[in-house]
Amino acid sequence: MTRSVPALLVALLTLASAATADARLTNDVAPTFQSIELKTDPDSTRYTGRVVIALDVIKPTRVIQLHADGQTLERIALTQGGKPIAVTETRGDRGLLTLTAARELGKGTARLEIAFTHAFNTQAVSLYRVVKDGRGYLFTQMEAEHAREAFPCFDEPAYKFPYQLTLRIPGRQEALFNTPIESESTQDGWKTIRFKKTPPLPSYLLAIAAGPLEFTPIPGLGVPGRVVTVQGQSQRAGMAARCAAPLMKGLEAYFGRPYPFEKLDLVAVPEYWFGAMENPGAITFLDNILLLDPATATTSQKKNLYRVVAHEIAHMWFGDWVTMEWWDDLWLNESFADWMGDKITDQVLPELRHQLDELESVQDIMTTDARPSTEPIRLDAKDGDQAMRNVGIAYNKGKCVLAMFEQWIGPDAFRRGVNRYLAAHAWKNANAGDLWQALGEASGKNVTEALAGYIEQQGHPLVTVEQLPRGALRISQKRYLVEGVEAPALTWHVPMAIRYFDGDSIRSAKFLLDGPSGTLQLPEGRNPVWVMPNGSGLGYYRWNVPHEMLLALAKRGTKSMTPAERIAFLGNLGALLAAGSLHGDEYLEALAGMADDPEPLVVRAVVAGLENARQAFVSDAIRDAFAAYVRQTLRPVATRYGLEKKAGESEAVSLVRPAYFTWLGQHGKDPAVLGMADQLAESYMRDSSSIDPTLATSSLRLHALRGDRALFDRYRHQFESTPSPTARSRYLTALGAFEDSTLQAEGLRYSMEGPLRANELMTIAFNVWGLSDAAADRVLGWMIANYGFLQTKVPRAFLPRNVFVAGGCSKERLARARAFYSDPAHLVSGVEKRLEQVGEQVRDCDSLRRREGAAVGAYLQRVSAGP
Ligand SMILES: [Zn+2]
Repeated sequence: MTRSVPALLVALLTLASAATADARLTNDVAPTFQSIELKTDPDSTRYTGRVVIALDVIKPTRVIQLHADGQTLERIALTQGGKPIAVTETRGDRGLLTLTAARELGKGTARLEIAFTHAFNTQAVSLYRVVKDGRGYLFTQMEAEHAREAFPCFDEPAYKFPYQLTLRIPGRQEALFNTPIESESTQDGWKTIRFKKTPPLPSYLLAIAAGPLEFTPIPGLGVPGRVVTVQGQSQRAGMAARCAAPLMKGLEAYFGRPYPFEKLDLVAVPEYWFGAMENPGAITFLDNILLLDPATATTSQKKNLYRVVAHEIAHMWFGDWVTMEWWDDLWLNESFADWMGDKITDQVLPELRHQLDELESVQDIMTTDARPSTEPIRLDAKDGDQAMRNVGIAYNKGKCVLAMFEQWIGPDAFRRGVNRYLAAHAWKNANAGDLWQALGEASGKNVTEALAGYIEQQGHPLVTVEQLPRGALRISQKRYLVEGVEAPALTWHVPMAIRYFDGDSIRSAKFLLDGPSGTLQLPEGRNPVWVMPNGSGLGYYRWNVPHEMLLALAKRGTKSMTPAERIAFLGNLGALLAAGSLHGDEYLEALAGMADDPEPLVVRAVVAGLENARQAFVSDAIRDAFAAYVRQTLRPVATRYGLEKKAGESEAVSLVRPAYFTWLGQHGKDPAVLGMADQLAESYMRDSSSIDPTLATSSLRLHALRGDRALFDRYRHQFESTPSPTARSRYLTALGAFEDSTLQAEGLRYSMEGPLRANELMTIAFNVWGLSDAAADRVLGWMIANYGFLQTKVPRAFLPRNVFVAGGCSKERLARARAFYSDPAHLVSGVEKRLEQVGEQVRDCDSLRRREGAAVGAYLQRVSAGP
């Protein structure tokens, strides 16, 4: 699965809440095969079905447990040895269906048949219906525990066995499943499609799509491949069709074996809560990720397309071919796919420097992971929903930890370990311990013990390096915490890659810090000029060196670091600021000093640092001084790279241009940039292919800042009429960018009354919220007033995301949100944990403002007064 949420929401994503009762199925009876027959009309609201499940009675019993959530069960027939056995049914929580047989089932096979009727889901989970341009379509999202809402099944990942689907749909429609079609016939206007039997799969990976679908072939795969779209969208399938084969080739080479399934469909879904889902042979994607128009797609959209497709195809081996035993290892499934997806994207599109780009998001993850509310990567998830709530920080941290350990044991040993693990558990289930064992065997290192600290403990270390005589370094650790915050002490096994300058050349050393402190003797026997304790930038730890060395590194040392190290260095500076080891003015000065970096992605990390500073320090009183500082810092960047795309420029420049363009306009109030944005936005509205697409979203937003009601209405009209998923999301985002408070209120009203899809409901609110404190207060008021409406539209699992409205730097807003959520009617599962996280974010921001606000204000006044 890939998430599809804005960066800030990712940072705020919740961890699992308090454990609920364990409700696993009894396992005296195991399914070995299930046939599913469904009669579905996408233009209707209900469907009928029948499942036949072959059972293996392992231990004599009268009880069979499975799941059937919400269906009307019309008939239940249990037989053993051809003889019917009467059953009584009991329905429990979370779709638990307990069948009690009139007599004991003996060891051996049995057969269970259930006929049912049900309504299609309309919240974009389970088997759900979407209406697009007046036509009905069916799609599915079964993970985590939605298969049981579609049809009776054994809905736990360890039940891994073959399925076969027979689907009846109206004769003119098309349908797909995980496997190719085995046979097809039409009678009385209904088409009956029998799909081939699947290999062993867990229920959460089953996928169905039906309706007037369009198909675009994917060339160059070893199996048949198609991009699948709703009607009228196949002309946007070209980029997705072209990306699949090179990514597949890279993944097959890494895993050393061919793609394990018979066909590959990439399905673009117009209404979808996630980014994508790794259903074998039928991967589903949110349409605006998969369907890009080459004339209007940005570099970062292209990169995201490759990244998401690579992530999902990587799951075909890791997750689908070999599946986790239980939801507590969902983190490994996702962390591995993300890590692998990044690696292959970098191989296929090296010019986009994707792995370097990802390092910036690691800094955000570490910020959130530093707070006491953080939780370990691995939790004892009682069910799939609880595991899914842990998706944010923990899974992204998991990816960083895998990258750090790959560097420690070496990429070849890591790859051998992964492939040994996969081969040993092919078509079956496995757990994280099985992978650690394989990595240990392949590397000869005690991987399990070192990993345990990172996977079973929350947070991360702060490593301090001090100089001892004659080239010895004392290296010590404690838990990294923001200044003034208390939390239990922890230690880690920290695999460090250190770089240092010995006066003549730059050298590297590896060191495993396996206790509170240790000593590293450098072979040269003399003290280094500087030490960069996170060489390669892949270490999941914060670090500090003597203050003079730190300031000298910021001024000169970064020139000899790699771009990855410079991005990690910038992130670490922010962490030292928060920890009270660096002053606010020193931080701003260091940011300004690094803005002339030759690597565009480092410049973007500088802009990320500016955003941190803005959130904490910028009030109305210093807004103009801050604007002057922003112009001084970023105008040289704009001069160097230009405001417009230059022929032959590096792709990485296209990734950073929107950042400095937006910042110069919005926070630097640069008249040249604002004027240009107005022109570009007008051109884009006339002809979306007439401007550099990387500036489209920025320009629409900057144009909206000072825009009036007429512009709002034009954006709204464009949003409603464009057939392009990309343009649709650009206009929706820009509808939340108006500074005029009346238009902000209008945007929020439109969120509920306009023709928005459920997964778009919070987009305008999220964008308005980021504009100012007053706007954020307005969004909170709107959410409180309309919570009942949101509860009807948004699945329960997604409601806690709305807690972002309490964030920022305002204790008053936080208190208001807490008061609202203290009503049990508003407190759905997951909200409490997220409120705790957001509360800590607000407290950190507020205390940083109090501690460093005066120093920052004085620095900005000095800088804005000029030399
Ligand atoms: Zn995934």
